[in-house]
Order: sequence, then structure tokens, then C-alpha cells
Amino acid sequence: MSTQFPIIDCHTHIGRLPGIVGEVVTAEDLAYICKHENVRYMLVSSASATTVGQHAATQEVVEMLTSSNPGEPRQLGGMLWVNPHDPSWAEDLSIAAAHSFHGIKIHPVLDHYAVSRAALDDVFAAARAQGWPILTHTDVDGTPMDAAAYEPLIQTYPDVILILAHLRWGAIPLVKRYDNVYVDTTYMDPVTVEIGVDALGPDRILFGTDAAEGFEIGRPPARVRPPRSYAGLIAELQGRSIPDAALEKILYTNARDLFNLSF
Ligand SMILES: [Zn+2]
Repeated sequence: MSTQFPIIDCHTHIGRLPGIVGEVVTAEDLAYICKHENVRYMLVSSASATTVGQHAATQEVVEMLTSSNPGEPRQLGGMLWVNPHDPSWAEDLSIAAAHSFHGIKIHPVLDHYAVSRAALDDVFAAARAQGWPILTHTDVDGTPMDAAAYEPLIQTYPDVILILAHLRWGAIPLVKRYDNVYVDTTYMDPVTVEIGVDALGPDRILFGTDAAEGFEIGRPPARVRPPRSYAGLIAELQGRSIPDAALEKILYTNARDLFNLSF
């Protein structure tokens, strides 16, 4: 079944993924998915930031953006994966700005740091200066990297959009309390998304997948995951009776407006 909605995926990766040495996702892989599954746009960070080094990852994204293919019309947009352990992390800000990256990605779990103002004040200040949203991985509720750990940063930077990936239950009260907080649906089961829509309405939920994990990319991956497709994920959401008008916001309109995408 082909989907009736345009899709923007706010959470995808290229690069050398953690787990298996040699698992590399390329821009061509993501472009393949866009073409075969009719995805309008992906926001892409490189996981090489956590396996190789942040600057190498930034360069991979720059290369993705400056190559003539893949993705015509432009379907892949850049996100800067920041690892605040890296003493040189801020040097990539100007590179990212020069190539019109759309925001910052952080992953405290993979990069091994507790979420606190001391750890992330400078990153949030940089996001504010650039006008960039921050997309973060939140860990299971009750850990030092969970959604609730972000509350002091959310309060200190009310003008920085923070997207709490993975729609943890602990994120729901934060979205309710603070206008600058969003969640994404990456790797969340459809029941949780239904509950999220009931709790929050559709306006601050973004669609994400962690593509290319599990998606058909026209070649065998180094690490086999349970197969996924956009049509399948959307059919599951429709199966939870999430209304089409809500789905259109989650799949497309919210991300388009939040990231000022001009289409
Ligand atoms: Zn991710």
C-alpha cells in the first residue's frame, strides 16, 4: 500500500553505526528509501560522531549535502551530531551553518554523559544562537539520561526547540508544560503513539524512524534488523484509529513548519 501523506522523517542516520564494525549507512541508502517509499525529506545526522569522531561525522553530512546526487530534488537535510565530550565540538558549528544544517542531534547514551546543564549549557546556547532545534535521544524513564532530566535545560532555554525522541511517558508532561518541547515517534509502538496523541494532540509529535535500520536499501545490510517500511509503519498508526488529519500533522506538517522547510 502506498501512503496518502507526504512524509518528513525527522530522525535518520548515515555513517558508521554502533554495534557491528563495518555497518555503514550511506546517503545513497537513504536516497534509495526516499525514492522507493515516497519520502519527501529526511533530517540526517551521522552516527560516525559516536563511533569515529564528531568532525568526521560532520564531514560525511557535508559530503552528503554537496554531492550532486543523491536525492533530486533535495531530499536529505543535515543535522549536526554534537558530542560535548569532544573539546573541539564547537568548531563544527560554522561548518554546519555554512551548509544550512537544520539543527543539532545529541545522544547522551551513546556518547556517555549524564544530562545536566553543566554538560549541555553550551550546546543549548549554540542552538539558540543558530536558531536550531535540538533532537535528542531520551533513555528509559528513571535513568540519568531520561526525558525528565532535560527539565532544567528546557526552563533555561525556552526559545530552543527540544525534540525528545522516542516518546517516553516521561516526556508527555514536559510537552504539556513547556511550549518548546516536542516528541518523536522513532521506534515507538503504535499504541504508545495513540496514547501520545490522546494526551497531547497531534501538534507536537514528529514522525521519526532511525532509518535506514530495517528498511529495504537495495543491498544486504551488515546488521540485519526486523524489516520495516514507511507504508507498514503508517498502516499501524492508522490501525490505532489515529485520524488522518492528525497523521498528516505528525508525518509532515509539524516538521515542515518547525524546521522551516520550504515546500
Ligand atoms: Zn537516532
